[in-house]
Amino acid sequence: MRLSQFFLPTLKETPSEAQIVSHRLMLRAGMVRQLSAGIYSWLPLGYRVLKKIEQIVREEQDAIGCNELLMPTIQPAELWQESGRYEDYGLEMLRITDRHDRNILFGPTNEEVITDIFRKEVKSYKQVPQLLYHIQWKFRDEIRPRFGVMRGREFLMKDAYSFDIDYESSRHSYNKMFLAYCRTFSRLGVKAIPMVADTGPIGGDLSHEFIILAETGESEVFCDKTWLDKDLTGKGVDLNDRTNLEGWVQTTLADYAATDEKHEAENCPVSGDDLIATRGIEVGHIFHFGTKYSEPMGATVLGPDGKDVPVMMGSYGIGVSRLVGALIEASHDENGIVWPEEVAPFRVGLINLRTGDDACDAACEDIYGKLKNAKIDVLYDDRDMRAGGKFADMDLIGLPWQIVVGPKGLANGVVELKNRKTGERSEVTLEAALNQIGA
Ligand code: ATP
Ligand code: MG
Repeated sequence: MRLSQFFLPTLKETPSEAQIVSHRLMLRAGMVRQLSAGIYSWLPLGYRVLKKIEQIVREEQDAIGCNELLMPTIQPAELWQESGRYEDYGLEMLRITDRHDRNILFGPTNEEVITDIFRKEVKSYKQVPQLLYHIQWKFRDEIRPRFGVMRGREFLMKDAYSFDIDYESSRHSYNKMFLAYCRTFSRLGVKAIPMVADTGPIGGDLSHEFIILAETGESEVFCDKTWLDKDLTGKGVDLNDRTNLEGWVQTTLADYAATDEKHEAENCPVSGDDLIATRGIEVGHIFHFGTKYSEPMGATVLGPDGKDVPVMMGSYGIGVSRLVGALIEASHDENGIVWPEEVAPFRVGLINLRTGDDACDAACEDIYGKLKNAKIDVLYDDRDMRAGGKFADMDLIGLPWQIVVGPKGLANGVVELKNRKTGERSEVTLEAALNQIGA
């Protein structure tokens, strides 16, 4: 992509409405713009990151055999009356009346809709387990939308649902999802610690929140410092071996980690310097809630003994749009964002120090073509403006690699290669630069 043709409205000044660094940087880097309280438009740079995160989340759901579908954003009130949550959900639910005076709502979550799909289509124990998910916009009329996309009113969530015949099988589904979450966050380049959590209005008996430690987080959290070095990549775990998977989950969870609702100072097994008491950002939440919805909504299957039993369910959310902000909270410096490779909007930023100079233009075109041929996402700053502004913008938007092309270097047959994360710069031949970034 050529920057002269890319819609990238960066800001030099720090926007006064933004209280935390990720929100400031997302505005300054031209990633999002607020349309109304807690409602954002995703501009091209931000949208590229959102889609990359979404794709990693998707791949890890697919990898555990979870089937992707897409449910609507608008739901009928009747379904929520059946589950008993229409009144309970309170003011966070955006209630709407259509032209026929029917009560509808913009979905804050999808337990009711998925349970309705399940009960209509699945009749026998032979058709479970089922693992289903979608990635869809949600609306919650948050009392205090803030921190940009971190606590929006409209936000993108991955929500998955499991249906099983009995507790053992249902627990296995929960464990699979636990593994998928560990793998997802590892791939995203962040440490998200699973913490024992309250189940809240969704209800249930087993629940973990995945939390990225950050001073700017909204939750107070407590954990053993061993979490900081723990490997959560889930390598070598056998998904289909219940005992192996359960063993891995139990070992992983052996060290203490809890949100403030569950933390009791007097009963905490770790203390002193071993206990980290800080704040965190909730990026995922998994619940096992048994028959809470299947019972009132009549989602039963015929068991092997010929008797109808309500299915055991779980639900599993990831805040896809919140993650964009959370990743920035976890990875930035005084000059701007520092994207992990996996989610960077482009892998390489190519800076032409003297647009209009024949040699510089020709060299940049050559590099641009080579990177494109190698299928490496590149943003080429071909704008006719001074170098300082180009450097500042490139650091601000945080692409992992920068290739800087200027007349002096070209005369000596070299370009400058900069690693955004380490700040390391080297004068190398074009071939060496391309080699180093894997082109
Ligand atoms: P929170 O405690 O932050 O209000 P929640 O417990 O109500 O979140 P869940 O119902 O568990 O949220 O939703 C699953 C995930 O969706 C959360 O872990 C979070 O990452 C994300 N999420 C929830 N509410 C918002 C919001 N208002 N804006 C952005 N993301 C959100
Ligand atoms: Mg939650």
